[in-house]
Amino acid sequence: MGVNLWLSTTKMTAEIVETPETHKAGFVNIVGKPNAGKSTLMNELVGERLSIITSKAQTTRHRILGIVNGVDFQIVYSDTPGFIKPKYGLHTAMMRFVKTALDDADILLYMIDATEDEDEDLATRVQNATCTRIILLNKIDAIHPESVQEKMRALVKKYPNAEILAISALQKTNTGQIFFKIVENLPVSPPYYPKDELTDRPERFFVSEIVREKIFKHCRNEIPYSSEVSVVSFKEEPEIIRIECEIFVERDSQKAILIGTAGDMLKKIGTHARQDMEIFFQKKIYLNLRVKIREGWRNNAMWLKNFGYQQAE
Ligand code: GDP
Ligand code: MG
Repeated sequence: MGVNLWLSTTKMTAEIVETPETHKAGFVNIVGKPNAGKSTLMNELVGERLSIITSKAQTTRHRILGIVNGVDFQIVYSDTPGFIKPKYGLHTAMMRFVKTALDDADILLYMIDATEDEDEDLATRVQNATCTRIILLNKIDAIHPESVQEKMRALVKKYPNAEILAISALQKTNTGQIFFKIVENLPVSPPYYPKDELTDRPERFFVSEIVREKIFKHCRNEIPYSSEVSVVSFKEEPEIIRIECEIFVERDSQKAILIGTAGDMLKKIGTHARQDMEIFFQKKIYLNLRVKIREGWRNNAMWLKNFGYQQAE
């Protein structure tokens, strides 16, 4: 099976190509609480490192699509932010992505962290969803086999018409079965996207996600949640890519922490980000990071729009 992959922000950019009448295609959306393992699973299903994975919640703010093509099928995956109660304007925008994920799915992958309780609001939405639902009890490596059995029995009762699988996304236990369940349940349809392209999402997106991941890794408390990364310039030369980014924070004090004593924090973030970018782009990278203040951006509709959180309807 040839696996092609690209990213898109819109659903309707498809070119209709001639395809066999039995071709299957559909949107497979992954939902679940923050930290349930959605990004880990998607990376496994899509076969490339696409969205960022961290041990902290809520790092995936964007709706990301990964596409897997076979000769007679096309699976369009999306990884959504975790299901959380809106607290700031940012959260409200995130929830819009989640709602879309529930609405436009052909197949819903609902991920449950076996080490935690379900969010009952989300559970109700999944129970009421009319599309094919595949319920994934994840992190079974982290609990006793007997509690896996017990939880599976409860899920069968709770979601009587859904497919239910116990998996470990991290250890790749039963993840292969998910693929077959998906292909089995895909509707007959021509592909939504041309089948030979690799990516249509700007490289800048990956740059800002990598920088954001490093901020999450190295900074504590509210800093990661108050930071946004904007790529000011991206210049590809034969031997090197020169990249300039601005990191926006909400307050002076946050700026001081992000820069660190004698600039050591920013240097650490920059070095680690550059190393990842060199692997990602397979090229030498020059990376320049600057920190700026945008007071209260998380509650400011205009800034949120600038950063791409509001979807064009
Ligand atoms: P997301 O917020 O739902 O996208 O979750 P992530 O994929 O970022 O994973 C959150 C954390 O859970 C990371 O530290 C993962 O390594 C961890 N994780 C994901 N899947 C598993 C699993 O099957 N078992 C265990 N033990 N940890 C997992
Ligand atoms: Mg994630």
